[in-house]
Amino acid sequence: MSATSPSAPAPVLVLVPGVTGAPADGGAAFHVADATVPQLSVTDLVATRGDGIFETIGAFDGTPVNVGPHLARLARSAEMVDLPAPDLGVLADAVDAVIAAHEPVAELSVRVMYTRGIEGAGEPTCWIHARVSDDWSPYRAGMKVAALDRGLPTSAPATSPWLLAGAKTLSYAVNMAAVREAKRRGAADVLFVSSDGYALEGPTSTLLVRRGDTFLTTPVSAGVLAGTSVQTLFAWLREQQGLATGEELMTLDDVAASDGAWLLSSTRLAAPIAQLDDRELPTDPELTARFERVLKGGI
Ligand code: PLP
Repeated sequence: MSATSPSAPAPVLVLVPGVTGAPADGGAAFHVADATVPQLSVTDLVATRGDGIFETIGAFDGTPVNVGPHLARLARSAEMVDLPAPDLGVLADAVDAVIAAHEPVAELSVRVMYTRGIEGAGEPTCWIHARVSDDWSPYRAGMKVAALDRGLPTSAPATSPWLLAGAKTLSYAVNMAAVREAKRRGAADVLFVSSDGYALEGPTSTLLVRRGDTFLTTPVSAGVLAGTSVQTLFAWLREQQGLATGEELMTLDDVAASDGAWLLSSTRLAAPIAQLDDRELPTDPELTARFERVLKGGI
């Protein structure tokens, strides 16, 4: 993935002081702000503790995909970390506003950020940031993935809910460290594995596996994020293609012996796993291209 080029259209920022109700100063629930000047306090608990949650929504040719499911997941994450419930109507309007204020581009990445706010203030901070998406095309063509131990069993969400498995928190340093380790191993991305030996998810993506006419993903109860992309594909596979979908704990051998595997997310779309460590997997460029169209909201 190459970084956004310096000549790319400028990112757009929308501040959302009304995320939990009307702002105290009687101002608007959200407004466009200058993305090129500092806006976040150094004492915001997201800066000092990584204490916040987020969502990344893909917008294709100006149309955001799965806004409702993303905001519902934000509300679930908020509940898991004891943040006040966000006003999802305000956020949906603010997402539209950030996209409208951005120059038209093919692929936009819209991040909704919601933090515990300035230490001692007791008020959350919320903003939405839109920028041209990273170039995911090399990933969509098929990638090598390194399997990395996450160091936790699939029972961790039940025994240790304070680890926040399944919440989309802003403490992604571990996820990013895993991607750097994968790159040191000559791979493009990671498939996390539980300490009891099951394939989980990528650091920013959901695992999809094909076994014949059945498509499978990791159960959310194993400690993975409930992906919006996999739910979109599952609905399409069942309702439009008459195929079976399900959740199943799978070992790395299961994934390697499958009829195809992908890492899915709202901005990368469907990236086939062409190689898992030293094992090659079959790829299906035509099916991947259809997945891409579905995930862009096209079918
Ligand atoms: N799993 C993790 C840990 C993620 O961070 C993401 C997205 O960023 C996903 C899965 C994929 O979720 P979605 O398909 O909703 O983008």
